[in-house]
Amino acid sequence: MVIVMKDSATQVLIEAVSERLKSLGFDVHKVVGVNKTILGAIGDKRDIDLRQFEIMEGVQEVVRITEPYKLSGRTFHQDNTVVKVKDASFGDDEIHVIAGPCSIESEEQVFTIAEKVKKAGATVLRGGAFKPRTSPYSFQGLGEDGLKILKKAGEEFHLATISEIMRENQLDMMLEYVDILQVGARNMQNFPLLKELGKIRKPILLKRGMAATIEEFLMAAEYIMAGGNYDVILCERGIRTFENYTRNTLDISAIPVVHKLSHLPIIVDPSHGTGLRDKVGPMARAAVAAGADGLTIEVHHEPEKALSDGAQSLYPYQFERLMEELRMIAWAIGRKIKQG
Ligand code: PEP
Ligand code: MN
Repeated sequence: MVIVMKDSATQVLIEAVSERLKSLGFDVHKVVGVNKTILGAIGDKRDIDLRQFEIMEGVQEVVRITEPYKLSGRTFHQDNTVVKVKDASFGDDEIHVIAGPCSIESEEQVFTIAEKVKKAGATVLRGGAFKPRTSPYSFQGLGEDGLKILKKAGEEFHLATISEIMRENQLDMMLEYVDILQVGARNMQNFPLLKELGKIRKPILLKRGMAATIEEFLMAAEYIMAGGNYDVILCERGIRTFENYTRNTLDISAIPVVHKLSHLPIIVDPSHGTGLRDKVGPMARAAVAAGADGLTIEVHHEPEKALSDGAQSLYPYQFERLMEELRMIAWAIGRKIKQG
């Protein structure tokens, strides 16, 4: 880190900051300019609260040089991480699409949708069994019975499966049914859950919290990786802003920002990102054009009857058409989406 002292800082104040840095184990290099003194603090000490320097007398500015996310950051890991799950891979030149209903409702529903999304080119089947609903009176999901349906459909149509885990005690059971565990936006900073997911060796799809900065997002990934599980896929799903025409504001710029800061793959969820079916296609196309490593899209054959998120679910024919468009965009930027 670099500490810039105020023009008015006396030698005593400069020494006090320097001594504090040394007492914390930093090597201190002092650069004395005409008006200003700058203290360069060398040392890999990520757990230090920088505000203690900001509030010291004589300090003008504290600048962090190395990012606090060591494992998820690109500094110490230049090459892209590729997360492979059955026929899907996230982080290489292929773009893979996760598709399926918001919630698993019945075997007939999941099988109908799975067949259609597979045909259109999806490689991972999604379906929520434990639903984080805003209202406790809304459909909460079918639980383990739903996961059994998801697994069966995955086997039938040769699709990898993904479902959201909401708490640690669901982990052992869920490992039997899904290939990827999803951490929802509301749980992005559920640190006990993230720590448990660090202990397993299955890919995790980590969704960005609705009020999380990108640094907080990468620190959440760090929690999982610190436990030894390096197969983390990040997912931009929109953040809360003052705009309320759409459900969330999809932060497309998070894609190049994350690609610069991190080696982890990042995919985009245009369904929760907009909350409106007619906005899903345009945002999916924009995400692929901006370099997303994949997408997760809600699809329902009877969205008007869906038990959750019908308004943002594509009809299968819309999904099929969108996949064709996405293939052309992927091709234009030197990537590809497999045919179904
Ligand atoms: C979901 O993908 O089903 C979901 C609930 O998403 P989010 O956590 O992004 O709201
Ligand atoms: Mn949903």
